[in-house]
Amino acid sequence: MIIDGKKTAASLRKDIKKKIEEIKSIYNTVPGLAVILVGEDPASKIYVRNKQKFAKEVGLNSEVIRYPADLKEEVLLTKIKALNKDTKVSGILVQLPLPKHINKKKVIDTIDHTKDVDGFHPINVGNLSSGYNSNIPCTPLGCSLLLKKVEKNLNGKHAVVIGRSNLNGRPMTQLLLKENCTVTITHSKTKDLKTECLRADIIIAAAGIPKLVKGNWVKNGAIVIDVGINKTNSGIVGDVDFEEVSKVAKAITPVPGGVGPMTIACLLQNTVNCFKKTNT
Ligand code: NAD
Repeated sequence: MIIDGKKTAASLRKDIKKKIEEIKSIYNTVPGLAVILVGEDPASKIYVRNKQKFAKEVGLNSEVIRYPADLKEEVLLTKIKALNKDTKVSGILVQLPLPKHINKKKVIDTIDHTKDVDGFHPINVGNLSSGYNSNIPCTPLGCSLLLKKVEKNLNGKHAVVIGRSNLNGRPMTQLLLKENCTVTITHSKTKDLKTECLRADIIIAAAGIPKLVKGNWVKNGAIVIDVGINKTNSGIVGDVDFEEVSKVAKAITPVPGGVGPMTIACLLQNTVNCFKKTNT
């Protein structure tokens, strides 16, 4: 089974659009998303353009605030504080990476955690790891929705997460624990990744290494979710060797068309959830 992220994301956006129409009819307003883009990073510009496009599609009130790469940190923090107070703004996203002279942690900590649609604020991270309600980082949230497409009940499954970033690996681990999986988290210092993967019922690959996971690393019938987006001479590829792994896996996400579209759909969903939390 090839897990169709494009189709799943389109159907999620349809639901979100409906929710926004309902909100409009009750509150006479729609949730607002403020996206801050600092500098000219080409990948970031594409991500922000796509976020904007789909925010419009579902009827969110979305604005992009653009700053030059030499922006003073203080100006950014002042803007975030203003957005925190702005009742028209339900969600705030600062597109990463930021230029080196800006302290990323300071920026994330300044965002009101109730508007933190990326789920990176320490309060949201803490709530997620304590098993409480929180804003959940969009990519891992998208991965778990795709997993649920294949298997509703993940009780007792052995999941191997490749990568321990705050963006992907760590929150993914927490979500899998919540689903009662037994989780092995692996990283660049893991000694024998192949052996770890061979024990997995579920593999989440988020290392940023093209075609890292080979066909003979995956046991028959495993579910493989490929988070990687790697630019190579032969185009965009994931962290999984799709051709090899699709022959042994029970289900696999393609790249592109797998996790990527879900990330944006989950961002829209998080924005609606933030609105609901403060308005109901
Ligand atoms: P990162 O560089 O922050 O983290 C990579 C992680 O992989 C680290 O924890 C590192 O320890 C681990 N790692 C590196 N080499 C390894 C190896 N040989 N074996 C095991 N682990 C290893 O990256 P990130 O921001 O988490 O992104 C990972 C990938 O996901 C990238 O390709 C990125 O482009 C992609 N990504 C995709 C989406 C999406 O929407 N699909 C969103 C964000 C990131």
